[in-house]
Amino acid sequence: MTANKTGYFTHPDCRKHEMGRGHPECPERLDAIEDRLLASGVGDALDRREAPLAVLEDIELAHDPRLVGALEEMNQQLAEHIAQGGRGYAQIDPDTSLNGHTWDAVLRASGAVIAATDAVIAGELENAFCAVRPPGHHACRSRSMGFCVFNQVAVGALHALERHGLQRVAIVDFDVHHGNGTEDILSGDDRVLMVGIFQHPFYPGTGSDPLGDNMLNLPVPAYTKGDVIRKMISDRWIPALNAFQPEMVFISAGFDAHREDDLGQLGLVEADYAWITAQIKDIANKYAKGRIVSSLEGGYNLSALGRSVEAHLRVLADL
Ligand SMILES: [Zn+2]
Repeated sequence: MTANKTGYFTHPDCRKHEMGRGHPECPERLDAIEDRLLASGVGDALDRREAPLAVLEDIELAHDPRLVGALEEMNQQLAEHIAQGGRGYAQIDPDTSLNGHTWDAVLRASGAVIAATDAVIAGELENAFCAVRPPGHHACRSRSMGFCVFNQVAVGALHALERHGLQRVAIVDFDVHHGNGTEDILSGDDRVLMVGIFQHPFYPGTGSDPLGDNMLNLPVPAYTKGDVIRKMISDRWIPALNAFQPEMVFISAGFDAHREDDLGQLGLVEADYAWITAQIKDIANKYAKGRIVSSLEGGYNLSALGRSVEAHLRVLADL
């Protein structure tokens, strides 16, 4: 029997982070993925690994130490507050808060992407998916926002560049929201090409005016469907990725552009996610020895999320 070549990195701490009743970025998102992988049998084809805790030095690859220090202090104060029987949340912005488990969850999320990067570069795994939360792509260098605390994909990309000495990494972001945090951290870094497609105008309002030449942003209006998005990807992303020749590809894998997802108004379905994944895989096979690390971002309709992650993983794992 050959070893499974697609890694699946997660940790129970990522399930314990929650931001209050009714918040769409909820622990059940991970359950929906796990249930679907179990029911479909896809889970059996994955190399399941526990996400380690990142250290602050890892986080500071992508974030201002002042942000990291401020959040660490906020977390310590929250822990004391909870120990004295106080309310269990500390607010970062109107949509984003910490509970008593968030700190470990965010360190596991970055730890997952780093460990996946290490395993893929070492050749132990061909590619990997990180089933982690909170998501990360709205987290800017000096500011957490939009359900995100730290930007694990930016941390992973910088880990690959700075510590493994890769020269070119691509980041693909197909979440319905613009990955403003990743752009903030990596714009102007010519070792990185980021390609994104997102609903616009929409939260967080950015993206139509790219911050750097290494950002290929494709804003699309609400109600755009898969056929149009596929054509834009073929016409715009693929030539740019071919020209860039990345040595590794990271994916900010948000599934909230699904037509059943109420947080966005785009019209993707599972077959579109499979198609997009196949295009990325093709680029990775041509230039990057197949090296892909994908990390969960959005996706809030639980059923659609489970089905879409299954479709994504079927292509990553050649099932
Ligand atoms: Zn999103």
